[in-house]
Amino acid sequence: MRHFAIVGSGPAGFYTAEALAKAYGEEARIEIIDRLPVPYGLIRFGVAPDHQSIKKVAIRYDKVAEADNVRFIGNVSIGDAVTVAELRGLYDAVVMATGAPHDRALGIEGEDLPGVMGSAEFVGWYNGHPDHADHRPPLEGTHAVVIGAGNVALDVARILSKTLEELGGSDIVDHAYRALGQSQVRDITILARRGPHQVAMTPKELGELGQLEIACPIVDAADFPPADEDAALEDRGLAKSVGLLRDYAALECDKDKAIRFDFYARPVRIEGDGRAERVIVERTHIDADGRARGTGEEYVLPASLVVSCIGYSSPPIEGVPYDHRGGRFANEGGVIEDGLYAVGWARRGPTGTIGTNRPDGYEVAASIEAAMPVGSDGGKAGGGGLDALLDSRDVLATGFSDWRRIEAAEEAAAREGAPREKMVSTSEMLRLLGHK
Ligand code: NAP
Repeated sequence: MRHFAIVGSGPAGFYTAEALAKAYGEEARIEIIDRLPVPYGLIRFGVAPDHQSIKKVAIRYDKVAEADNVRFIGNVSIGDAVTVAELRGLYDAVVMATGAPHDRALGIEGEDLPGVMGSAEFVGWYNGHPDHADHRPPLEGTHAVVIGAGNVALDVARILSKTLEELGGSDIVDHAYRALGQSQVRDITILARRGPHQVAMTPKELGELGQLEIACPIVDAADFPPADEDAALEDRGLAKSVGLLRDYAALECDKDKAIRFDFYARPVRIEGDGRAERVIVERTHIDADGRARGTGEEYVLPASLVVSCIGYSSPPIEGVPYDHRGGRFANEGGVIEDGLYAVGWARRGPTGTIGTNRPDGYEVAASIEAAMPVGSDGGKAGGGGLDALLDSRDVLATGFSDWRRIEAAEEAAAREGAPREKMVSTSEMLRLLGHK
């Protein structure tokens, strides 16, 4: 018998559990541990609330969690309630699937002003993450700036632009739904430090900007390289995205809200009297190495809300070697040390789609299987040992059936047409389960 612990119940954690459960069958017990009482990580808290079809992948994860050789353990913070060293003493392999929940810093003056938020905070706010549910993004001003040219920037710009009717079928949480209903934001600038040929935006997400009820994208045709240079984009999978941006450049925007693409523009400072009021932007050009270089030309963009969507990092955890440059755990192909592994964003940084985590998790499961063949025994205590440790520390763990009760309550509380109304505080969830 082998005992495996996976720390984190997002996509990477679930695909790894699925792979291990298949490979070992009855020869292993796999435990997926999350610091929150609820599972799914990025699916619940990162994927945009109006992208419900993507969230359906959770049905596959449910099957994993309900398999006989798998157990979900919620409300247990590894590195806090239990150390990684203790976990390694109890399990044959520990897999870090903790994602990348921290915002990367912009590193510019003024980024700590009220009104400046990272995308983990802003997305966490509208998705009801217990760490971010109490934020109050300022939506009284008319101008917002979104920094970054990736899909998260598009998510943020789109959510800021949608009407309540458009958000109706989403699972955006009530506090954000109501706040966005009162929002005065009319003018959203997406600041991209490089050009249209360097965006990290995919066609589906870019295409959605052209379908909005009361908002439209504004792109300056002068920002594009000559059209014959678009041919080279096929190999990079960018041809469709750039094609959409060219279409937008040819459009007349006649709607109430504008989403402006400001290419070759990087923020150098955020200013304001006790809160964000404007972003000082420097014009850039792309150097021979493809990097954005400042030209020295500066201009001002008014903004009472600034959301920085420039990527994430994984927080270090005691007992796990850390790669400070990469903002993730130090690893080679997912192996950190003997018996200690990393998958997903904790392994490779914040890149790729949900589906990218499947081969990632399967690859690490294969490495574990190679090191600990099916049928071998490591003599570890596994879940029984963890339960005893948690009991001795009065840590109240939740299980998958507890999640099912929370899920049922969330579905029962949903606005009309919405799939669920998420509980946004851990204590509220625990109260529902009968704990004080
Ligand atoms: P991302 O795709 O890495 O994009 C980050 C953007 O921030 C890039 O345009 C980057 O520009 C820019 N940036 C980085 N540092 C900057 C700085 N200091 N100043 C100004 N700009 C800066 O990251 P993301 O948007 O957070 O997305 C993370 C991952 O999740 C991606 O793989 C994404 O595709 C995925 N995702 C997918 C979906 C979906 O499929 N629907 C939705 C959301 C996210 P440079 O290129 O110049 O570095």
